[in-house]
Amino acid sequence: MGVQLDDFTSRATAFLDANLPRKEAAKKFVWGEGSDNMSMFEEKSREAEQQMVDEAKAWRTKKFDAGFGWITGPTEYGGAGLTAAHERAYAAVEANYKVPSQSIFTIGLGMVAPTMLAHGSPQAKEKFLRAMWRADIVGCQLFSEPGAGSDLASLQTKAERDGDEWVITGQKVWTSGAHYSDIGEIICRTDPSQPKHKGLTAFLVDMKAPGVEIRPLRQMTGGASFNEVFFTEVRVPDWYRLGDENAGWGVALTTLMNERAAIGAGMGGGEVSMMTRITAMVHHYGLQNDALVRDMLANLYINYRVANFNNKRAMDKMKAGQTPGPEMSISKMALVNNQKLLNDFLAHVLGAKLQADTGEWGTYAWNQLVLGAPGMRIAGGSDEVMRNIVGERVLGLPKDVGIDSKSPFRDLKVGTQKD
Ligand SMILES: Cc1cc2nc3c(=O)[nH]c(=O)nc-3n(C[C@H](O)[C@H](O)[C@H](O)COP(=O)(O)OP(=O)(O)OC[C@H]3O[C@@H](n4cnc5c(N)ncnc54)[C@H](O)[C@@H]3O)c2cc1C
Repeated sequence: MGVQLDDFTSRATAFLDANLPRKEAAKKFVWGEGSDNMSMFEEKSREAEQQMVDEAKAWRTKKFDAGFGWITGPTEYGGAGLTAAHERAYAAVEANYKVPSQSIFTIGLGMVAPTMLAHGSPQAKEKFLRAMWRADIVGCQLFSEPGAGSDLASLQTKAERDGDEWVITGQKVWTSGAHYSDIGEIICRTDPSQPKHKGLTAFLVDMKAPGVEIRPLRQMTGGASFNEVFFTEVRVPDWYRLGDENAGWGVALTTLMNERAAIGAGMGGGEVSMMTRITAMVHHYGLQNDALVRDMLANLYINYRVANFNNKRAMDKMKAGQTPGPEMSISKMALVNNQKLLNDFLAHVLGAKLQADTGEWGTYAWNQLVLGAPGMRIAGGSDEVMRNIVGERVLGLPKDVGIDSKSPFRDLKVGTQKD
């Protein structure tokens, strides 16, 4: 490989030193000091969110222009053409600096861009990949519909061919970040005479095109990070198609595989600061000798450690070039189960202070985490769907009986489908 790791790391360090402040050495955590924010989703006002988007984009553009924005990407589309070892070396150095939140890119760069690289037309790759990795544009995922979530292949948004264009009409829902996105990856039904997994086609769609209407959805946490998105005769050129006509299911699976990898990698185990916080909480309330609290705390610690090891195993598999498999489903189940244990612990120790804001530091702030937790049980595949995957692929149990993969879609009774 042309670029030596040592030279590369020195260059990365020089770039980061010149552009970002270093993180201070970790201070010993003291109960009552610093921020007590523990929210799961970044729930901000629209103004604060816009500021976060601007800062996230500014940093990513700077990083891209210095050659660190898409380290393993092919040079023909703006990548640096280097190895995963260079990518890891950069990440290790960058971890020492205060980087503006990059969460707005999780879906676009973690899921949509890899799908585009695998299935996009040459024109689409040329037009969008560099722009996405440079943060000129942000991407979102338009899969779920009111009648199609776990059973995604029941989706009804349709795309009809009109010469060199496609005309899209229908509704998507739960679209994270649609309101600040520029393009989306959408799965549409293109042939209802085929079985439901077969008549689907994937496209890119311009989120600012005429006929696209984005409406925010308010969550129980108070934030509005999801949207419902309506498409009324929205036109996309044929070269926005991802993969072949009626082969959209395979394209969707590429994206979903990357989604589970992103969720498993980002959230499972390793919650050191959380463990530190709750241990300090136990001491603060003088509960360190309470047998039940000790038992709950130990149980949490063990389960987070086990989840962390399982995650590491899955990550090592990916680093070795293997495809993430059911380990990701196990990681996700461990994540949400641990979240449930944590919620029970918080409710036990904090009681009513978790529900009513007394103004006391480190109490009501956990409410955001507790209210965000049910969302994690659903996002990226619900608990039951994860259990089905593990049951079928790990334990070798028979397949879920509820899926008709043979009848033409138009003959199925699905949601609100019209004849
Ligand atoms: C935080 C968050 C972010 C999201 N972001 C996006 C996004 O950006 N883009 C997007 O397209 N979607 C997004 N979604 C939607 C998400 O993909 C769906 O919510 C999810 O696929 C579940 O679908 P559903 O909500 O329609 O529930 P349903 O599929 O209707 O499920 C309802 C219940 O039935 C159970 N169930 C369903 N099928 C089975 C089965 N075969 N066996 C046993 N039980 C079953 C489920 O487990 C669940 O408890 C997001 C969701 C969340 C919570």
